[in-house]
Amino acid sequence: MSVPARQLPALDPDTAFYWQAGAQGQLQIARCTACRRYTHPPLPRCPSCGGQTAPEPVSGKGRVASFTINHQPWLPGLLVPYVFAAVALAEQEELYVLTNIIGCNPESVSIGMKLRVCFEPHGDVYLPMFQPDESHG
Ligand SMILES: [Zn+2]
Repeated sequence: MSVPARQLPALDPDTAFYWQAGAQGQLQIARCTACRRYTHPPLPRCPSCGGQTAPEPVSGKGRVASFTINHQPWLPGLLVPYVFAAVALAEQEELYVLTNIIGCNPESVSIGMKLRVCFEPHGDVYLPMFQPDESHG
């Protein structure tokens, strides 16, 4: 099976962990070492208290907060239609990741749908994506 074309992220020191933690099968999110609040996209300093952040593994569970179905192949080889979504992570209110929903018919995606993270490897980048998972609460 060929891997679909994706726009790959630029890796910088503050965000590389997010794109590479999939090598260990983990989703990692920046978390404040002082107030313990998660922040995404990653920032070196906590927007709430100014404390230092560090990547921490999270459960990888979440729900669809909003989504769009794209029918336009923006890149050669991109499979359409595909689902671009904001996924609300289980760890904290209003903690969202922007990603693709895979492993299901795009027409079956709905707000509140339960998801679990999965990873699509592209060299040393492991794109965090989500697929349906009805097994969690
Ligand atoms: Zn903080």
